Amino acid sequence: MGLWRTALAVRKPFVGGNWKMNLNRREAAALSAAVANRCDETHDTDVAVFPPFTALDAVAKQIGSGSVWLGAQDFYHEPHGAYTGEVSLGMLVDCGVSVVLVGHSERRHVLGESDTLINEKAIAALEAEMQIILCIGETLAQREAGKTDAINAGQLLSGLAGVTEQQMSRVTIAYEPVWAIGTGKTATPRDAQAAHKRLRCVLGDGLSWSGSVAEQVRVQYGGSVKPDQAPQLICGDDIDGFLVGGASLNADDFLAIIGATESR
Ligand code: PEP
Repeated sequence: MGLWRTALAVRKPFVGGNWKMNLNRREAAALSAAVANRCDETHDTDVAVFPPFTALDAVAKQIGSGSVWLGAQDFYHEPHGAYTGEVSLGMLVDCGVSVVLVGHSERRHVLGESDTLINEKAIAALEAEMQIILCIGETLAQREAGKTDAINAGQLLSGLAGVTEQQMSRVTIAYEPVWAIGTGKTATPRDAQAAHKRLRCVLGDGLSWSGSVAEQVRVQYGGSVKPDQAPQLICGDDIDGFLVGGASLNADDFLAIIGATESR
């Protein structure tokens, strides 16, 4: 096992709000304005919101050049061409997007994205100077079959294949057990911390970067995170923030989750 030392790492918390296929432009503008008003006052946590494509422009106007990052939930890895319905990274940059989700479980399991495609997307986004959040996590069946660690390590290593040490500074991992996403079930703080620690071991041992990469990469937890669980979850040494779905659609809840990370 590598000699990385979690305790010495100083990782700024990072919270993302994944709005999925929700909110029209008016609703998205109102929510992003509420988030930006609060987040522009404090800089203890990095915050990103991931509106649907149709609301990117409306949200960009509200958050301006303040502290909230504009994110996109998806993109296609080719720069342009005959890919009906797809959106390129260049188009997202043009809208002000600086961070993208890659490998979200709904794209893996509902839309059928393969490990190969997810890796192609990760590489393309990093080459376009974007930040990425690489989402990984096991299904309930995989967990019950005792495959949790193997699945997570496999998704992590295949998703990051070919990523350079320098590019790793723009990578965040979101550990999101699929059985916890949108279900109201959350991993216990102890289980979540243990899973994050194992992921950091995989990062330290499994690829060709130096040990400091494993110390520096932020690992978010995701899966039905609500304001009442966030304070306990964030106490885990290897939990560096959250990727939030449902609760990010409510400004008070999302801001309370962000607030929980600020005292870390
Ligand atoms: C997500 O979309 O990444 C997510 C974790 O959703 P939820 O918080 O609703 O489970």
